[in-house]
Amino acid sequence: MGLRTDSLLIHGGTDGDAVTGAVNVPVYQTSTFKQDGLGQDRGWEYSRTGNPTRAALEKLIADLEHGEYGLAFASGLAAINTVLSLFKSGDKLVVSDNIYGGTFRILDNVFNNFGITYKIVDTSDPAKIEEAIDEDVKAVYVESPANPLLTVTDIAAAAEIAHRHGKLLIVDNTFLTPYLQRPLTLGADIVIHSGTKYLGGHSDTVSGLIALKDRELADRLYYLQNATGGVLGPWDSFLMIRGIKTLGVRMDRHVKNAERIARWLRDSGYATRVYYPGLEEDPGYEIQKKQADGPGAMISFILDEKYDYRSFFSNLKLITLAESLGGVESLVCHPATMTHAAIPADIRKEVGIADELIRLSVGIEDVEDLIEDLQQAAENSAKEVV
Ligand SMILES: *Cc1c(COP(=O)(O)O)cnc(C)c1O
Repeated sequence: MGLRTDSLLIHGGTDGDAVTGAVNVPVYQTSTFKQDGLGQDRGWEYSRTGNPTRAALEKLIADLEHGEYGLAFASGLAAINTVLSLFKSGDKLVVSDNIYGGTFRILDNVFNNFGITYKIVDTSDPAKIEEAIDEDVKAVYVESPANPLLTVTDIAAAAEIAHRHGKLLIVDNTFLTPYLQRPLTLGADIVIHSGTKYLGGHSDTVSGLIALKDRELADRLYYLQNATGGVLGPWDSFLMIRGIKTLGVRMDRHVKNAERIARWLRDSGYATRVYYPGLEEDPGYEIQKKQADGPGAMISFILDEKYDYRSFFSNLKLITLAESLGGVESLVCHPATMTHAAIPADIRKEVGIADELIRLSVGIEDVEDLIEDLQQAAENSAKEVV
């Protein structure tokens, strides 16, 4: 039966336990499985290779992304590491100009050492993707909306260009989740998630996920998952399944709160620039609306210079200064020194990640409390008038 997303969140993947009738998938906290005779296992051998709790999560992310295959990893970066391991020395990737700092770091300081290079491109302009593709390029790697400037890339256009040249399109869908955007249906070949963020949703689990449709590519990724071993444990797989059940209701509130706060920030006079693809004047607004069911709940902004941005961070009382995003609680961060510190200052400047940039992950608290907190933090950070 083809369930809709809201039902898939609760009943997708492996729905409960067929043996006992438990409504939740049990935590198979085991490293290995008894074999009844030589070459006679019961479908499970060793938990790096396969574990029933992890397999339930893997099937769930495949269902949610409208894919055929799913894989779960110990972190988003372990998932990214596995996808990048598809490539070999001499291969090149075309990469969005604002991406998660850790993604930049693994490309720049790890895979670069193995002769896999990358080219940073403003993927919000399809012509620039086209221009960057040459014989050595094997894949286009995008985040949309991207971290931290919420730049929107037209995923269908990027897929068309990549495929016309025989290249793969890889999309990091962490910021929107399959509840709001399903890149495989727009033509992407591989979808990556940091499950640590909205999918888990409670800031209590680090995980990574991959979903895809193609059998041959899935076989290669399963091989790499087992060969390199960065798998998600059974307990964390259980927590992810548990978190995903409420993704729909959480995202609805996240987005509602974010839309209100983005407008308030824009109109209040505290911010000189607000980056949020849910604002009509945002350059990504139309494409975002076309390819996703909502703009998400990540907002970046530049505080007016009348206010000291360093004091602003310490003056917040309800909103927590921390790395990460996507949890039920609102978090704020300073990309230049936190999430994107791995990107050298000159590249940060080039792609527009200003030192004054503030990134807000809007939680599901009462939005009026959040606005009051932002307002008092700004007022109390006002620079003294000489
Ligand atoms: C956090 C994040 C990652 C990395 O995921 P981890 O779970 O922290 O390893 C990758 N991409 C995006 C967009 C992220 O926000």
